[in-house]
This record gives sequence, C-alpha cells and structure tokens, in this order.
Amino acid sequence: MRVKPCPAYNERVSTNILNADLHCHSVVSDGTLTPEVLATRAKANGVELWALTDHDEVGGQHRALAAAKACQLPYLTGTEISITFSGKTVHIVGLGFDADDARLIDGLRRTRGGRGDRAQEMSEGLAKVGIHGAYEGALKYAGNPELISRTHFARYLVESGVCQDTSEVFRRYLIEGKPGFVPHRWASLKDAVSWIVDAHGVAVIAHPARYGFTANEEYALFTEFKAHGGRAVEVVTGSHTPDEYAKYAEMAQEFELAASRGSDFHSPDESHTDLGALPWLPGQLTPVWELLTERIQ
Ligand code: AMP
Ligand code: MN
Ligand code: MN
Ligand code: MN
Repeated sequence: MRVKPCPAYNERVSTNILNADLHCHSVVSDGTLTPEVLATRAKANGVELWALTDHDEVGGQHRALAAAKACQLPYLTGTEISITFSGKTVHIVGLGFDADDARLIDGLRRTRGGRGDRAQEMSEGLAKVGIHGAYEGALKYAGNPELISRTHFARYLVESGVCQDTSEVFRRYLIEGKPGFVPHRWASLKDAVSWIVDAHGVAVIAHPARYGFTANEEYALFTEFKAHGGRAVEVVTGSHTPDEYAKYAEMAQEFELAASRGSDFHSPDESHTDLGALPWLPGQLTPVWELLTERIQ
C-alpha cells in the first residue's frame, strides 16, 4: 500500500499527501516496542509526521519526542483516552497537546486507576473456565503495570497455548459476554475532550467503525464530541476497510471535522498495518495536521 514519492515535507504540510502516522502504541501501554524503536521504525518506513498515542498515558512522550528529533522525524504529542459513551468503550485520540499539562496528566492517572481491580476480576472470570494464573501471567507482559490491558491477557493466553493468536483470545474470552470480559466505566466524553483541548491539543474520534454503534448512537457521538470541542475523526486507520474510509470521509465532511490518519500499530507480530503503511487521506478532507502546524516539534 506504500505510495508514490512526493515533494518535500515543507511544501506539503498543508496538503493531504503526507505520510503522517498519528496513532500507535509502545511498551508504555500495550505495544511491544519501545518509543525509541518505534521512532526508528517509523522513519525507516517513510513516515514524515509521527505521534505515539499510548492508551491513557503520556509517560512515553518525552522519550518519543527525543527519539523523533534524533532521526529528524517531525513529531506531535499523542495519547488515546478510553471513555464510556452510550454503554460502550470508545477511544478519543489527543494530538499536539502540552504533555506536561497537570490537568491532563491527572485525568489520565484517574482513568488508569481502575485497571488493576478490573484485571483481577478478569482473572477470576477466566479461572471459572479453567484458566488459572491469568492476572500474574498478563502482568509479566505489561511494561507499565498501571496500564494492564486486555492485550496483555491475550498475549499470555497465546503463550500458554490456550489460543493460536490474540484475535482468537478476544473472540473466545475477552469481548462482551465472554468469561474474561469485565465491564468498566472509563472517563466521560466531555472530560476527555476538555483535558486535550485545555492542554492546547486537538481531540480526534479514534477508529469510529469499531464500536458497533447504531446510526443514531454514532450521530450522537459525533454531535456531542463536536459540542465539547472535538475537531477531528480518524478516517484512514489500520482498523478501517476501504468502504469505511469512504463512509467516515463523508461523516467528516458532514460534521465539518478534520481527518486523521494512523496505523494503530502495536507489534510487528500482531498488527496487520505497519507504521506509515496506509493509503493517503481522501483529497477533499482537511487533514488534522493543518490544525496543528504550530504544534509540530
Ligand atoms: P482494554 O483497554 O484493556 O480494554 O484493551 C483494549 C485493547 O485491546 C485495544 O486497544 C486493542 O489493542 C486490543 N483489542 C481490542 N479488541 C481486539 C481484538 N478483537 N483483537 C485484538 N486486539 C484487540
Ligand atoms: Mn491497544
Ligand atoms: Mn483504540
Ligand atoms: Mn490504539
């Protein structure tokens, strides 16, 4: 899916033809690579503007920025905040914020807060179907114990031979209705958007096709997101199909939102989309980086 060469970065920052990858994860959340290795990989893959967006955490931002600078890779700060909307977990990406903003850091700390207890409960649910020691097993995979996530459980269940791959673990054990699923109340949409906006960043709805919302629920998400100050939506992401690029390109225009582009890369062994290996943003959309030119470091 890699695409034709194009003019120099400085001439193109205000166009859609930019290999921006504004969504990925490191060991600071549920990725398997360090921020430094990700920066090098992004550069080698031809990424021209990068953001590390660890779940509910900005602890990797200074490392990511230093590593990006070391390989002359323009950088935007990033995070991906878990929220609860209409009874479902939704992800809001923040870009270009001040990574030292006290209110944002405190909000993310509170969002992470319930993960330990939730992980214990997940482990109890799995024990009931004969899978023992899953909490301890998952914890071994969590680079940041505060960020213990379903992904770490999935890696442990693959390692221990319960499933062939992480997708199978999610399907059989970790999604709603399955033994390792524990409903959790995350941040509110309003709080997540305001933490990002008040820290001078732009809030982005992550991978909207992944939530299984009805058309009415999705309309409400976009409407409320905008009302709270959200300004962009991911259109081209590793977890959308080409039909979904088209659908969310239309939604971006209907709601007058800018569009973002990001692989959601977690691991060379698990992710099907590598850093930067995405189609361009559709030409009619305003790229989110046009809103953030002053925030690129
Ligand atoms: P958590 O924040 O603990 O609920 O975990 C959510 C993470 O699990 C997401 O950020 C993805 O990395 C991963 N994930 C969610 N659904 C799937 C799936 N069906 N297959 C593989 N990974 C998934
Ligand atoms: Mn993840
Ligand atoms: Mn996500
Ligand atoms: Mn993600």
